[in-house]
Order: sequence, then C-alpha cells, then structure tokens
Amino acid sequence: MGIFDTHAHYLKRDFGDDLEKLLGELPEKNVERVLAVGCGLDEFEETTALVERHDYIFGALGVHPEFVDDLPENWENTLEIALKAKKIVALGEFGLDYHYGSDNKSKQREVFARQLELAKKLDLPVIIHSRDACEDTMELLREYKPRGVMHCFSYSAEIAKEVVKLGMYVGFTGVLTFKNAKKAIAACEAVPIERLLLETDCPYMAPEPFRGKRCDSSMIAFTGARMAEIKGVSADEMIEIANKNGRRLFLVKSEIAVRIAEESDLSAVLAIRMEMLSVVNEGKTFDEDFRERSREYFTNGAQTTVLAFDGENAVGCATICYVDVMPTYSHPTGKRAHVMNVYVRDDYRRRGIAREMMKKLLDEARNRGVTQITLDATESGRPLYQSLGFNGSEEFMELIF
Ligand SMILES: [Zn+2]
Repeated sequence: MGIFDTHAHYLKRDFGDDLEKLLGELPEKNVERVLAVGCGLDEFEETTALVERHDYIFGALGVHPEFVDDLPENWENTLEIALKAKKIVALGEFGLDYHYGSDNKSKQREVFARQLELAKKLDLPVIIHSRDACEDTMELLREYKPRGVMHCFSYSAEIAKEVVKLGMYVGFTGVLTFKNAKKAIAACEAVPIERLLLETDCPYMAPEPFRGKRCDSSMIAFTGARMAEIKGVSADEMIEIANKNGRRLFLVKSEIAVRIAEESDLSAVLAIRMEMLSVVNEGKTFDEDFRERSREYFTNGAQTTVLAFDGENAVGCATICYVDVMPTYSHPTGKRAHVMNVYVRDDYRRRGIAREMMKKLLDEARNRGVTQITLDATESGRPLYQSLGFNGSEEFMELIF
C-alpha cells in the first residue's frame, strides 16, 4: 500500500508550469492518494478541476481563517454548492489562526462555527486548521464534536489526547522530522496509531532532509519513517496504517458499494446479520437453527437484503420482508412489506450508507408492487428512522411513497 497524503495544496500559483508534470509522476513515486485542499472561495474552481483531471486526487474545500475578512455575503451558499462537486470528500481547511494578530477573533469564530454547522448538515468530515488559538478551537470542537482531523498539529500531548477523545484524527507534517520537534513528537506519541494521519501541507513544510525546499507528496516517505520510529513499527507498516486511517476518515463514502444481495452473497449476508444480532443483543450468539431460518427466508423470496461492501467485506445490511410471503406475518391484503433491520458497522456510521441501503430496498419493494410499508423496526435500540438520520417517521415515509 502506498502513500496517502491527506493534506496538500497543489495550486498553479505555487508550482507554475511544473504542476502537471509533477502530479503525473507522483503515482510512480509510491503516492497512491492525495487530498488536495482548496482554502478560499478563489481556490474552489481550481481544486475541483484538479480532482477531475487526476484519478488518485480527491478534494476538500473550506474557508481558511486567513480569508474571513473579505467574504462576500453569500459565502456559505457558494461553499455548500462547491462541496457537492464530484470527489470533494471533506470540508476544510478552516478554523482559527491568531498567529498574525487577533483583531478579527470574533469574525474567525463565527466563520469557524458556521462551517462546523455546515459539515454536520452535509455529513462531511472536517479538516481543522488551528494555530495559536488552542483554547477557542477546543471550545468549539467540544461543542460540535465533528468527525475529522486536526491538521498540522502544533499543540501539546494533552490536547492531542483530548482531540482523540472527541473522536477526531490528528495529522502531522514534515515538522515531525525537524530537530526542534520535541512538542510534535510528544503529541504523536500520545495519539493511538489508528488515529494518526500523514500529510505534507505542501508546498510548505518539507521534511528533513528537504527542509526549506518546495515540498511534494512523495516526501511523506521521510515523515512516515520518523513517525514509524516514534510508534515502534516499520516504515512500510506506518505508511500503510496511515493510508488506511485516511481512507476510513475521508474516502469510505465514495468507495463503498451498496447492492441487493444475490444467491452468491449468502455467506456474507449470514455473517453480517449474525454480527448485527450480537451487537443489538449485547454479545449474545445465535444457534444453527436461527441461521437455518435466516437462510430459508433469504432463498424463498420472503425477504430482500441489501449489503454495503467496503472492498470484499460486508460492512452493513438492511432487510425488508414481504408480509404476504412471510408465514409469521400473514396479512389478508398482501402487498405489504415490513422493514426488518438496518445495520452499519461502527466505523462506517454517519456517512449516509444506511440511507442509501434503504433507498435500494424501497425501490425493490416498489418494483414488486408493494404499496404499504410498516416501520416499527428499531436498530440498536433506537427507532429506525432516527438511525437513518431522518428527523421523524413522517420524513422517512415521504421518501417511501
Ligand atoms: Zn493547509
């Protein structure tokens, strides 16, 4: 597995005519994925075009604290529309930066909070920039608890631990390789390995031995080697773990496949369903008899199951049963269906996967002439519509008919 640079700025302004040649060569230098960050309204178009030109590059868009003073009235709207473009997978970078003075603190905080709000609304991970503004940043992160990363981390080990506790990831740049990097190293030590991200923040922050030179994503090999030393793993392992972490945070949604289970998926259906049942029933396991019934309903057409796959692995399932076919639910008027369950593995929640599975199921039910759907199912003890991210069952039913 190659390098995933989770934070890069590839703008023509900085790289000039070299840019396309450089980007064309990165995959040969073990760079597998890049998240290109567009920082202000002026950079949105260029970033969106960049990710369209290169398969391995994904994009993030946000309003950096540097640009909060000259924002037009409709900036939020512009950002929201831009975020809907293909392969834009995160909101960022944004946050607080009091480094060059702080006379616009309240404006910075306002733009920070509004972007946290927007990320919640759009269900996107965030990339947080924070410099010399630790307290104010943490206050807002505690309030909003976003899914995302604190990038180019520059605070203490204690703060790193708290960021992790809030559910976020922590990103380190080439700074980790510098001689005077004590603070960054201590913070890196404090973060569990599965929450670490590697990034360049290029064209700046080149790691040793390139410090001060123009940086590009291939140089992560050096930052990764240093991080590996700190965490006590091999450099290759570290690159792979950080790649997986980045993918889990930013890309799962765009790479997940949702489809109706077929005959050949039976073992995947049974495995994920057993996992779901043991989660819902707090560790209880289910006997062969139960599996047998599950198998029977799957094959006799009484149920339709939709699976969500991350590569080879099923990470979610949802099942609807057709009441007129299910002996235990006999109903005189037929053409009724009942949502049995929806399950998404912990790591994959809050990415709209459940919603997508439900859409597929409901389409299938409609094709089969179903005109009524009951929804008294719960998922992990919560009403199903809530688990799916709807405000109420009415909103959910609207999607149905
Ligand atoms: Zn940046």
